[in-house]
Amino acid sequence: SPDPLLGPADVRELAAALGVRPTKQRGQNFVIDANTVRRIVRTARVRPDDVVVEIGPGLGSLTLGLLQEAAWVTAVEIDDVLAAALPATVSARLPERADRFALVHQDALRVTELPGPAPTALVANLPYNVAVPVLLHMLAAFPGIEHGLVMVQSEVADRLAAEPGSKVYGVPSVKAAWYAEVKRAGAIGRNVFWPAPNVDSGLVSWVRREPPRTRATREEVFAVVDAAFAQRRKTLRAALAGWAGSAAAAEAALEAAGVPPRARGESLTIEDFAAIAERKDTTTS
Ligand code: SAM
Repeated sequence: SPDPLLGPADVRELAAALGVRPTKQRGQNFVIDANTVRRIVRTARVRPDDVVVEIGPGLGSLTLGLLQEAAWVTAVEIDDVLAAALPATVSARLPERADRFALVHQDALRVTELPGPAPTALVANLPYNVAVPVLLHMLAAFPGIEHGLVMVQSEVADRLAAEPGSKVYGVPSVKAAWYAEVKRAGAIGRNVFWPAPNVDSGLVSWVRREPPRTRATREEVFAVVDAAFAQRRKTLRAALAGWAGSAAAAEAALEAAGVPPRARGESLTIEDFAAIAERKDTTTS
């Protein structure tokens, strides 16, 4: 039987039939290469019992590859035309799997529940302008998501997977580390997309971890992270003065947490940030 995955001619034909004109604003770059889809699905280690949520299925390039391997796929698409067309594409190209597929026509940033079984994996070629917020939102909203892989702009992939001390370690790295162990998982060229983006892409894979053990809430910890990196070149004592109420109060919290007040955010682990958040109201007296 013919390959159900979409090739360049299929993508062009589908787009033409639907009158789709890809927009930058929604990060619409569609994968036109079946081998790339197979590579993504393989690298994501999608298992036969996985319930996969895919953000931004577009014309269905990756959706079809995921449906070939997983027990179930739920796709979340914001675009009216793409969302309306996808169920027919699935039925036409993978009819024997169409009853394991659900489409949600919504902004992924607003999704708090999904139809079908609870998701165990997230695999997506994310819209580049909202990639980090979408990823963090999904990890927070669906604790059952155990593992996954996303394709993002190459620099964003580096940031998400960065370790403390790295030049590109920052807010996305620390927040992602709250939820998961994140790794770079390869590079993707521009020519496998239509239209070709003007940036390179990278793959990032992760496995869920236990969040740091702390009395502070995630929101409290993330507030320290945001404050620390808002003024990246300052010492933590100075950068956290607003958060703590004063530089002296920041210093007291840092010392109580065992973090040198002259350190900078880029050298701290997520556990360090959690320890600082716990000591917010430490006083020196
Ligand atoms: N998965 C397809 C592929 O690989 O060919 C398309 C990927 S394209 C990079 C990103 C997709 O995300 C587009 O279909 C776009 O309409 C959709 N999208 C953009 N913003 C979104 C949002 N906030 N929520 C859900 N989908 C979104």
